[in-house]
Amino acid sequence: MSELHKFLFDGLPVRGALVRLTDAWQEILSRREANNASGAWPPPVAELLGEMAAAGVLMQSNIKFNGALVLQIFGDGPVKVAVAEVQHDLTVRATAKVIGDVQVGDRLAELVNVHNKGRCAITLDPKDKFPGQQPYQGVVPLHGDQREKLGKLSDVLQHYMLQSEQLDTTLVLAADGKVAAGLLIQRLPVEGEGNLEGSLVSKANEDAIGVQEDYNRIATLAASLKRDELLELDVDTILRRLFWQEKILRFPAETPRFACTCSRERVANMIRGLGQAEADDIVREQGQIEVGCDFCGQQYRFDAVDAAQLFTSPGDQPPVTSAMQ
Ligand SMILES: [Zn+2]
Repeated sequence: MSELHKFLFDGLPVRGALVRLTDAWQEILSRREANNASGAWPPPVAELLGEMAAAGVLMQSNIKFNGALVLQIFGDGPVKVAVAEVQHDLTVRATAKVIGDVQVGDRLAELVNVHNKGRCAITLDPKDKFPGQQPYQGVVPLHGDQREKLGKLSDVLQHYMLQSEQLDTTLVLAADGKVAAGLLIQRLPVEGEGNLEGSLVSKANEDAIGVQEDYNRIATLAASLKRDELLELDVDTILRRLFWQEKILRFPAETPRFACTCSRERVANMIRGLGQAEADDIVREQGQIEVGCDFCGQQYRFDAVDAAQLFTSPGDQPPVTSAMQ
């Protein structure tokens, strides 16, 4: 079963989370494999997507956002777009659109950042929006400050989290055909820091340095976690091996799972968005309108009568939360 474990380092301003998506991840892969139109993703694409799914769960649980957290990579290579979406209840879905040849061993740069123009967008889409409210979106490039291409998704997201939350974060991500897993370690803001003045300044500095040392020590331990260990070892073993000298307070495990938010009504709205003339054209050429969900493989069919009705009874039109249906 897929699991998310959150924990605190007792007495230290450092927290962590470890996610292992097993059944949830396998469900995403097998649905894709069963889709005759697309077939399975090439393994390097599945690995990237698995890392995105694991990272999405970690980031969602970290901020506890009441809505969807959507990680999107817009690539300039063989992968045009990759999306992982995690809801407040830790349901996950993910998909990718591959438009070119993927080679064995391709990593982030070869998949989505060939010309150094790839981007990663993190969108927070509130569940109950007030009228006119837009989702919040942050976008980071897939290169560092010196325009050097980043080798790993974790580097990209660490950069984003430092920028957006002003908090040091260490991420380790890995995925294969069975497991998508990730470890997050984050420095917590210290209460009262910055409020100390006068004679307390040197004390505050000492505390700040101590806090930094605690985080650095734990982050270094976390970063030593190997891909194979993250994929193969159970949660208790990983935490014991990495942090056996630290006192860890653990929270009850949570269970991420696969679920898709697509619906006939959303597809209907998309068809309305095309306009009646184009919808009529499709019905004339193909006898019906058929739309498949890229995330779960569900097929939605609208025959001539269904299609005509779409334009006579306008439904409510919630905004589409993702680049793909
Ligand atoms: Zn779906």
